[in-house]
Amino acid sequence: MSQRSPKEAIPVPPAIQARLEQAGLRRTLATRAVLGLFLSNPQGSLTHSQALASLTARGLDINRVTLYRLLDRLAACGVLQRHADDDARTWRFGLADAPQDGVVPRFECDACHRQFRLTEASAPTRAVAGDLLRTLARLGHQGQRVDLSVHGTCAGCVPPAADGPGQEPAA
Ligand SMILES: [Zn+2]
Repeated sequence: MSQRSPKEAIPVPPAIQARLEQAGLRRTLATRAVLGLFLSNPQGSLTHSQALASLTARGLDINRVTLYRLLDRLAACGVLQRHADDDARTWRFGLADAPQDGVVPRFECDACHRQFRLTEASAPTRAVAGDLLRTLARLGHQGQRVDLSVHGTCAGCVPPAADGPGQEPAA
């Protein structure tokens, strides 16, 4: 049985292909269909249920849990970016920045997993990234992109300072 999806023949950009390979993600029918969904609307973002509805409408039989994992993996390897949609109380997924957009460091809250793009820092960071790539080149390596992410706790998740500083464990 050959399942064809003629309308989803959107070529996968090499940068995305490279990320998939680095992450060891196989290009299954589901992966290609999900990528096609986002590539056909690069500026858009979708919630899990919107993506599921679109894929189902395109005739892809995909389990919702499978789709969840796939979206998460695509986000983890930098193909997709996810951010919290506070109104819908869910995640929205969209295509991550193309490398030619320059290095935009990100901050991810380990508590709520929201991502913040630190665009203010992009100019000096780009210089650092260029430096790193040049260093690699001197060593004969071919760096392709630099990812900078900072992990921590976002302003919304930092617990309010209860008793002020100086809380030492009882001696
Ligand atoms: Zn947070």
